[in-house]
Formats: sequence, C-alpha cells, structure tokens
Amino acid sequence: MNLVLLGPPGTGKGTIAKFIEVRFGCAHVSTGDLLRDEVASRTAVGLEIEPVMNSGALVDDAIVLRVLEKTLAGLKGKSFVLDGFPRTLEQGEILEPLLARLGIALDLVLEIDSPEEIIVKRLSARRQCVSCKRIYGLDVPSKNEGLCDECGSQTVLRKDDEPEVVKERLRLYNDITRPLSDFYSGRGLLRKIDGDRTLQEIFAEVEKLLSP
Ligand code: AMP
Repeated sequence: MNLVLLGPPGTGKGTIAKFIEVRFGCAHVSTGDLLRDEVASRTAVGLEIEPVMNSGALVDDAIVLRVLEKTLAGLKGKSFVLDGFPRTLEQGEILEPLLARLGIALDLVLEIDSPEEIIVKRLSARRQCVSCKRIYGLDVPSKNEGLCDECGSQTVLRKDDEPEVVKERLRLYNDITRPLSDFYSGRGLLRKIDGDRTLQEIFAEVEKLLSP
C-alpha cells in the first residue's frame, strides 16, 4: 500500500510514518530527512538548500523532485509512506505523472490535523538526534534529557523548530499545503485523522484504516 501523509508540522507525521513502516512494512520516505541528509553530507545541493531550510521556506521543486524520484525508483516496487511531499498543489499535480512513470499507484492519503497552539507547544519541545535523526518530544521524551536513547549522541532543537520559524512554517502550511486536502478528497483518496489525541489512539485508528 502506497500512502501520502498530510498535516501541519508538529502533528506527529514522522512518528506515525515510522509506526506504519514497522507495522505494515512501508518504507518511510521523508523529503525533509532526504534534504537534511544532503545538508549533512555537504553535497553541492546540500550547501545550496541549507539557508533555505533554516529559514523555514520551501526548497525549489526541481531539487526536491530529483531527490524524491531517485529514492522512489530505488524502492523497486516496495510500498512506501510519503511524508513531507507533496506540499503544494503544484507538487500534488507533479507527483501523479512521476508515480505513473515509475508504474506506482497511490492508494490513500491520511491527513492529520491539530489546533495551532498545540502544534507550537509540541514543536518547541521537540528534539532531534544529531546522529541517527531520531525525534523526541512531549509524547516520546528521551530517557536522559539531551541524549539519544538509540545511539547516545546529543539531541538538539532543530533550527526550523525555533518559534519564529515554526510560525512561518504554519503560515506556509495553511496558505499552500492545505488546498491538497480538497485535491485528494476530489480523487476519493483522503482520510482525515484527529491528531489531538494520544499517539496510542492515533496508532489504533491508523491500524484500523490500513488493515485489510
Ligand atoms: P519537514 O521535515 O518535512 O518539516 O521538512 C523540513 C524542510 O525541508 C522544510 O521546511 C523545507 O525547507 C524542506 N522540504 C521538505 N519537503 C519539501 C517539499 N516537498 N518541498 C519543498 N521543500 C521541502
């Protein structure tokens, strides 16, 4: 089953995608993580996009598409859950021929949503491991504050989770990503999920939705 996860930053999309990966065997494809890997590896693309990402703005479509197509092609038919793409109506439209070229069908789009004040609170508490990229937050704190449970490296507040940047990311989401909800609803692919609940409750609903 090939899925897209929609939802503002801070609604637990990454955590839910990981759950789907473990429970249903879908590869978690996060364009944010793919782009952050480019930055961390200091590639030419990484150096170009670093200031854009740090400001909370969107990276150029051509760059994201190149990275995404390479990753999806590399899956060789394995199912996936796409997190962070599409983010604009244009990207939604571009995704269709891209998937068609690769012979892939999209089965479902899950849209997770939460009130804005809860999102801001969650993101300012979120920390990411500098090494293995694992995310910690209010729902899933690390056992030792500031250190990753998996690999013991430092956990830090991401530049794009700083309060001013979060406000910009939420504004962007409302202006340009939210219209994708109607786009996928019109294609009969959308299922809405209330993100203002415990992760366990959300996991249970996702499990029910995705179980055959
Ligand atoms: P995320 O981890 O999904 O919140 O993404 C972090 C950052 O990566 C975003 O703020 C953008 O700068 C960039 N990014 C991720 N996905 C996309 C996309 N589909 N289009 C443009 N930029 C993206």
